[in-house]
Amino acid sequence: APMPPKTAELLERRRRLLGPNVSTFYDEPIHFVRGEDVWLWDADGRRYLDCYNNVPHVGHCNPRVVEAVSRQASRLNTHTRYLHEGILDYVERLTGTFDDALSTAILTCAGSEANDIALRMAEAMTGKRGIIATNATYHGNTTLVSHLSKSNVPEVGFGLADYIRHVEAPDSYRIDDPDGERFAAHVQASIDELEDHGTGFAALIVCPLFLNEGFPTQAEGWLRPAAEAVRKAGGLLICDEVQSGFGRCGSHFWAHQKQGVVPDIVTMGKPMGNGHPVAGLVTTSEIMARFRHAFRYFNTFGGNPVSCAAAMAVLEELEEKDLRSNAARMGALAAERLSNLAEKHPVIGTVRQSGMVFGAEFVVDRGTKEPAGDYADRIVNEMRRRGIILSKLGRHKNTLKIRPPMPFAAEHVDLLFETLDDVLTSTPLRHA
Ligand code: PMP
Repeated sequence: APMPPKTAELLERRRRLLGPNVSTFYDEPIHFVRGEDVWLWDADGRRYLDCYNNVPHVGHCNPRVVEAVSRQASRLNTHTRYLHEGILDYVERLTGTFDDALSTAILTCAGSEANDIALRMAEAMTGKRGIIATNATYHGNTTLVSHLSKSNVPEVGFGLADYIRHVEAPDSYRIDDPDGERFAAHVQASIDELEDHGTGFAALIVCPLFLNEGFPTQAEGWLRPAAEAVRKAGGLLICDEVQSGFGRCGSHFWAHQKQGVVPDIVTMGKPMGNGHPVAGLVTTSEIMARFRHAFRYFNTFGGNPVSCAAAMAVLEELEEKDLRSNAARMGALAAERLSNLAEKHPVIGTVRQSGMVFGAEFVVDRGTKEPAGDYADRIVNEMRRRGIILSKLGRHKNTLKIRPPMPFAAEHVDLLFETLDDVLTSTPLRHA
């Protein structure tokens, strides 16, 4: 079908004003003009169910957050070189959701900045620079952090390759590693390699749910063996909870708690301010002290009073509406619906769920487990045509990723899976 004239015009202006290759979702990009709770509206007044965005964590245009931001913005906004209670009250409340050891924080504007600081903290603590990451993830866009993502490394390079090692991301469907011992052995091999190379080992950084890598099914405590290898080698464990944090996994407020580890540093962002750009990290007082002495870190916008008001309102909303429990309940319901779909549609190889994040891996054949990435693309685009927003990703680029705002309710689960059932039924698997 030809593109609507307004869509074509906006795409042309983007190319001209923002440069080429600025990606959009979907074959037919969407022009949203309004959001409310779990719903989005496009310029033609069409309504979509948002099953993908984890930034509007407590719902699009959440009234409590909007009110908190506008109240603070109309009173004062400045930076952290002046005294203000906002950041202190927030950090007190935020660190209250962590193990007692994780008692201090730095606030930034983006998850990338938080990960960048975490890597510098690891260097400050260990005097070494070697970093280990998984091989199909994304941690952000600073020069240093971009090198953690294999798909992201600039061809010119900055000589950082010497410092970074990649281990294979877990894949519960194809790799037998029920208790994380195999993963830990790979981490250990990379630690040894960094030591032999003379670089030395500073830190392992992982998303505890491996959300960019297809969120494999893992037993509670799966990360513990890898964490032990890291500790024994004198390195730091950094958990990137930019996607997995703030109750998303349902059973716990932070996904590392589900994984049975206490990291040295936890980074966060995306849902933290419900769309207001606030991110940060939490760490021990010892690591913080070492970092504050080694680097005179200042972030002009990080932790400003308006950001802290937004972030505080998100925590209040999560607690008052008990949205973590909702994530656990709706996630369980979604898992049930996914299993039913898997019985009916052989293209579903396996299903995944951890609280309010769930999905399915599409395969050409259940015997060979050959990933059906193109099929996943077609489903995502067809769901968009039917007014449901979701996406796909994963190690094999064939995993449907469904990650709705936390107020997602049973009626939304129903609409999502009725539509998905229809779409799977009407979309045949064509062999490439
Ligand atoms: N870590 C993870 C796991 C992410 O998914 C992202 C963003 N997709 C980032 C870090 C980077 O965050 P930001 O875009 O806020 O810099």
